[in-house]
Amino acid sequence: MLSKQEKLLSMGRIPAEPLLRVIEPEFDDWTFHSNAGDHYSKSPITVIAERAKITGDTLQKLVDRTNQSVDFNIADKILCAMHLNQRWYVPPLDEIYWKVNLNYRPNTVVLISEEQMLATRRRSLIRMEAGEKCRKGHPFSEYGTINRNTGKMRCRQCDTNQARAYRERNRARSGAEASAKDDRR
Ligand SMILES: [Zn+2]
Repeated sequence: MLSKQEKLLSMGRIPAEPLLRVIEPEFDDWTFHSNAGDHYSKSPITVIAERAKITGDTLQKLVDRTNQSVDFNIADKILCAMHLNQRWYVPPLDEIYWKVNLNYRPNTVVLISEEQMLATRRRSLIRMEAGEKCRKGHPFSEYGTINRNTGKMRCRQCDTNQARAYRERNRARSGAEASAKDDRR
């Protein structure tokens, strides 16, 4: 039997407690004051979460002990945002760092029967031949593609457009962050 910690590590997650032991003593340094004399301020949780590009809720739930573990990648983002990534290599995080399974991928593939797949595939082909269009109006006869594993139909044109929009959003965001870099104090 795997211990609770070993199980977490095998799933690419790390226990919250040792991470909090590293980050919480540093929180005082991360309170944002807009400028001297002004009463406007941001909590360290907000400031760190913004820098780490994670939701404030994710960090809050660790700090208030709602969540007892966190994905390694999130923990790494938090430590990097706080310039503490070297702390992975010393206690109490070093042991975790060397054991965590970084190749873990959640198994999100829903298994369906061959029959189900073929039935869905037939329906997709009929829709394609009937001249059906996707929600954005691209004809499936031209842009439709059938998933080999599920038989479901997708619109390639919409997939392409979505991927492009995602890239552009990311680019705009990282540009905005670069210009706002190190304005934490
Ligand atoms: Zn489409």
